[in-house]
Amino acid sequence: MQNKKANRSIKPIYLDYQATTPTDPRVVKAMMPFFSESFGNPHSVDHAYGWEAEEVVDRARQQIADVIGADPREIIFTSGATESNNLAIKGLAHFLRDNPKGTPRNRIVTTTIEHKCVLESVNRLEREGFEIIRLPVDVSGLIDLDELTKAVTDETALVSIMAVNNEIGVIQHLTKIGEICKAVGAKFHTDAAQAVGKIPLDVNKMQIDLMSISGHKIYGPKGIGALYVRRRPRIRLEPLIDGGGQERGLRSGTLATPLCVGLGAAAQFANEEMFAEYDRLSALSHHFRDGLSAQLDGLQFNGDPDQRIPGNLNVTFEGVSGAEIMKSLPELALSMGSACTSADLEPSYVLKALGYNDEQALSSLRIGLGRFTKEDDVDQAIVLLVTAVRKLRSRT
Ligand SMILES: *Cc1c(COP(=O)(O)O)cnc(C)c1O
Repeated sequence: MQNKKANRSIKPIYLDYQATTPTDPRVVKAMMPFFSESFGNPHSVDHAYGWEAEEVVDRARQQIADVIGADPREIIFTSGATESNNLAIKGLAHFLRDNPKGTPRNRIVTTTIEHKCVLESVNRLEREGFEIIRLPVDVSGLIDLDELTKAVTDETALVSIMAVNNEIGVIQHLTKIGEICKAVGAKFHTDAAQAVGKIPLDVNKMQIDLMSISGHKIYGPKGIGALYVRRRPRIRLEPLIDGGGQERGLRSGTLATPLCVGLGAAAQFANEEMFAEYDRLSALSHHFRDGLSAQLDGLQFNGDPDQRIPGNLNVTFEGVSGAEIMKSLPELALSMGSACTSADLEPSYVLKALGYNDEQALSSLRIGLGRFTKEDDVDQAIVLLVTAVRKLRSRT
């Protein structure tokens, strides 16, 4: 860490698109007027400043809704996917606890590979008395749908399963999960921070009741996200933030107009360019994988080879530590897993959930490719990685 900070002159090749993405310059441009001349409060109903802001916020809501097959009235702006996940999970659990109806539903089903903000939200609910089932995943990172069926009963309030994992890029079988939930009347929440704009999503076809979205994972600004909340049948949540009753009472506070505009624009670009970008990134990541495999032995590519987004490679380099590789390569911006935990040298809990031991997990790196990654970047990264790994291996 310290080494890298000292090397300020080096601008590394960015290969960490699952940690965050740069805001697309087209998105920045769309946002700019709403910081200055068009500064109105979208909740001011008495004058043109407010009307203008309200209009662009509504447009952003529509742009987001269009990406997931939702109605704009079902989109609630939040500060990011962390808040969306907290609101979905705690909001639903607390509403049901405080407004009991019919059979008590005290169970929440999730997985062991969720983002920390989901895991910590259910941990808190467990301390409050909810029953939490954390489903394991197989070595490819997928949950077992038979186990899910057994876990989801008519006493299950909520199933929270991420669409795409942020460390290994694996896509869960959302449509089947939706069917399993629906069969017993459990609500289905999915953390789609890594999926929106990358793979087709449809809240109706997939029978999703709640979906979390993050701006900065889709080339939008940081500090904004959204929660999709189904209207028919209506999903009721207890808000986390009380106040002026904005966002249908679910999330009070003045909306950040420029950020809303940015998230809307980012969603629209991602949607329009999704299929072309999917193909381009597939080709690039195959090229990356083949380039490494041709020159290095003892590699393992983690996560299901087919059920995955193309912009992610998670690689185990047998016999070398990922931290050492990163330390010797200030030219590359890589990570060992989630941005939240990579500072402390803990092995990734996601890779451990796949059945890896500490040593294997600590020998793994996450390579994230995205919109601004060029073939030349990949070629350079292959050479740098091959050289560094060979050198480190020859030392031992
Ligand atoms: C980044 C991320 C989050 C957190 O999103 P923020 O908008 O940064 O709060 C949650 N879940 C997943 C899967 C993520 O990748």
